[in-house]
Amino acid sequence: MIIELIKGDITEIQADAIVNAANSSLLGGGGVDGAIHRKGGNAILEACKEIRNRQGSCKIGEAVITTAGNLPAKFVIHTVGPRWYNNSMEKAPLLANCYLNTLKLAVENNIKIIAFPNISTGIYHFPKDEAADIAIEAVRNFGEIEKLDKIIFVCFDDENYNLYLQKIK
Ligand code: ADP
Repeated sequence: MIIELIKGDITEIQADAIVNAANSSLLGGGGVDGAIHRKGGNAILEACKEIRNRQGSCKIGEAVITTAGNLPAKFVIHTVGPRWYNNSMEKAPLLANCYLNTLKLAVENNIKIIAFPNISTGIYHFPKDEAADIAIEAVRNFGEIEKLDKIIFVCFDDENYNLYLQKIK
């Protein structure tokens, strides 16, 4: 199993699955969510609506899978990160759950290569340093890691990229 670090736009990654930092509504939003829906096209939104009709909204820390529409990836796994408020490190397990539940869903769907954005570190304002530690730790703790070939951390901004570079090497 390889861990790769890329600086760039996750919508351009040709993985089996890319991960979306979605919100509970699953109906799209800003940041990476907006980019995925915009470039992936309406098929992703339609699939999200079907899931909503079946199970309602997606809870924080949970994950659901859809087509990737027009994107180069095969699937999008949508997970809902926790929103950061003052000193809310009690949110850490919820952020870890995003990574763990996403990886579990990936294994269930025979996904071998998966790309993660830096969940919760944009509009949800989770501190980037702590979020990177939680992400890397969660991936290390995942019990079925040998079933995947590659996990790609896709950093959009320099700050996240430099943090991951330091922590992963
Ligand atoms: P959240 O609401 O979970 O914070 P955001 O989309 O606002 O979600 O931000 C999550 C992370 O995704 C941020 O680090 C942001 O810089 C990054 N990001 C935004 N657009 C993209 C993109 N196209 N590809 C990869 N990462 C992105």
